[in-house]
Amino acid sequence: MESYIKLSTLNDFIFCPKSIYYHTLYDNYEKNIYQETAQKEGTKYHEAIDNKTYSTRKEILQWIPVFSDQYQISWNIDIFNTKTWELTERKTEIFLDKDWSEKIYKWQKYQLWWQMFCLEEMWYTVSQMYIYSIKTNKKYRIYKPSTKQLIDFEEMLEKYRKFNPINPNWQQNTQKCIKCIYRELCDYYIWEIYPQMKLFE
Ligand code: SF4
Repeated sequence: MESYIKLSTLNDFIFCPKSIYYHTLYDNYEKNIYQETAQKEGTKYHEAIDNKTYSTRKEILQWIPVFSDQYQISWNIDIFNTKTWELTERKTEIFLDKDWSEKIYKWQKYQLWWQMFCLEEMWYTVSQMYIYSIKTNKKYRIYKPSTKQLIDFEEMLEKYRKFNPINPNWQQNTQKCIKCIYRELCDYYIWEIYPQMKLFE
């Protein structure tokens, strides 16, 4: 795998390591072909950031590439205000837990910490971090990682680097397979009723 890990690749990895491969395959196609409603909506909401037209204010950095040598990671920051030092990651909406309460997942915190580590290495100070829900116009504060969270973050990077894609003992998560946008192509796609069908043994 490449030495600098991209945040988008890590997101795939956390969802399902096999999806990295299918994501790369689909990169050559129009997103409309494989994205489902939720992803299409997310892409639409992210257009202003991708095109750097979300704000015309000079102090707002949008979609700027950042890197961290320490963690060997890279990506683009979503929105960073160089006057208030606030870093914001925009999301279409916040997920709801089983009891319908709003839930911020660990991997969503990783996204902000990821950007923060890169910015701090580039001599920016990050004072506060937020996830912003576009649909509800609400902000959720994300705090800097504790020592334990930092260790978890580093372990997750290590797990990514050591992942063996041909490990015969690897097992898919059927609940994720059902929701996976790559399921049409994936030879590991399985859902609860049917036995696994592998095209390539
Ligand atoms: S279909 Fe299942 S195994 Fe295949 S990439 Fe998606 S989640 Fe992973």
